[in-house]
Amino acid sequence: MRIDENQISEIIKNVLANVAGENVTENARSYKGVFDSMSDALEAVNKAYKQYRSYTVEQREQIISKIRELTLNEAEEMAKLGVSETGMGRVSDKIIKHQLVANKTPGTEDLSPSVMTGDNGLTLVEMAPYGVIGSITPSTNPSETVICNSIGMIAGGNAVVFNPHPNACKTANYAVDLVNRAILEAGGPENLVVSVYKPTMDTSNEMMKSPIVRMLVATGGPGVVRTLLSSGKKAIGAGAGNPPVIVDETADIKKAARDIVAGASFDNNLPCIAEKECFAVDSIADALIAGMQEAGAYLIKGDQVDALVKLALVEKDGKYSINKKWVGKDAGKFLKELGINSDARLIICETNALHPFVQVEMMMPVLPIVRVPDIDDAIEKAVAAEHGNRHSAHIHSKNIDNLTKFARAVETTIFVKNAPSYAGIGAGGEGYTTFTIAGPTGEGLTAAHSFTRQRRCVMVDGLHIV
Ligand code: NAD
Repeated sequence: MRIDENQISEIIKNVLANVAGENVTENARSYKGVFDSMSDALEAVNKAYKQYRSYTVEQREQIISKIRELTLNEAEEMAKLGVSETGMGRVSDKIIKHQLVANKTPGTEDLSPSVMTGDNGLTLVEMAPYGVIGSITPSTNPSETVICNSIGMIAGGNAVVFNPHPNACKTANYAVDLVNRAILEAGGPENLVVSVYKPTMDTSNEMMKSPIVRMLVATGGPGVVRTLLSSGKKAIGAGAGNPPVIVDETADIKKAARDIVAGASFDNNLPCIAEKECFAVDSIADALIAGMQEAGAYLIKGDQVDALVKLALVEKDGKYSINKKWVGKDAGKFLKELGINSDARLIICETNALHPFVQVEMMMPVLPIVRVPDIDDAIEKAVAAEHGNRHSAHIHSKNIDNLTKFARAVETTIFVKNAPSYAGIGAGGEGYTTFTIAGPTGEGLTAAHSFTRQRRCVMVDGLHIV
């Protein structure tokens, strides 16, 4: 085989791009629905939306079934890609997250029109699409959020343009490609869901300002939610959490310990709903800690805790923030740095309520436990640690008054009683799933209905039959 000069120069270019870390973009170039520029992506999605307007609800459902099927088929591939690209989370847990998205994200059944009839005729209220929705997605659930939002938005009759997290864009764009493959296989239009190869703040701004985009959805930390809410457009903000879990003296302590270890270690504590600090009533705290150790947690003490603070957090002028290098890493990696050889899924330690492990949303498999004298003190400290995010909070108790008191005080979107935190998004608990939990703007667990606008159609003096 002869190779000409152009081919040689192309090979060299590719090798250099790989060395420079641009291979993510090079691979993404073959993805369907993924464009070089935001303006091309917007033009394509606008065209697709116009075609999609004529599709029936049955056709929407055929597309969604295909997305579910491909997501289940390719769950492992996406889980591996997510971990290898971001360096965060656990493959086995990410597979479960994709299965959850495929099986429990509502489709068109979530849309329920309403009717009013009477002497004056008949009035219909239907749930209509917004049009093209702009969606910003996080690094912590890159493909899960793309697929979950796509299902809900397509079910609502919309098209979507994504601006994924730059550090997870290969995984997010793989999911954009999967969704487009499913749409085409089901007979849908090209580019109903689009994205860009290299998402940046500039592409994000262009997307937010484009007149083509009629609604914005932000899934991420406080910065992106603030930015979207000041865009002047209809926006859904799904922001940060720092979920506390309380255990009182009436709980089944062994079960509470198992549930908390399972929830707090799931995908290395990346989920925004995961237990991030624990408040334990003093009389059961020792039994709870022993139960957590039995369930696979590793207890560190004294100097080890101080060393972990130095590793996991960055301190500036007495204020702590996360050391991004350590977000979503396995507990074993942290322990190795402390000179401990263990494959524990979770690290636990006792701290006071003002400790940075309690106050900072760490997204690491590290759970601080705070001893409290009674439920009232637990609630006061847990509400303070949640920082008014109104995101998620959890409790293990058999005392109905305590359950009710905490739920009323913390005012979170998700409140799980006597189960791991993930029961709140339908894993082992009743109800549908979502990876966009809108606390700040109040839609709660978003689904197809959240991505629609209500339209009223009135017929006077006719069509009512009694
Ligand atoms: P992040 O806030 O760093 O990034 C989220 C997205 O916003 C990314 O695409 C990023 O590029 C973009 N972004 C960030 N600042 C922006 C700005 N000022 N303007 C425009 N775009 C901006 O979040 P992350 O680290 O990828 O994810 C973790 C955070 O997201 C945690 O705080 C977690 O609690 C939260 N989260 C919330 C939900 C939810 O449903 N409420 C779901 C997942 C993650």
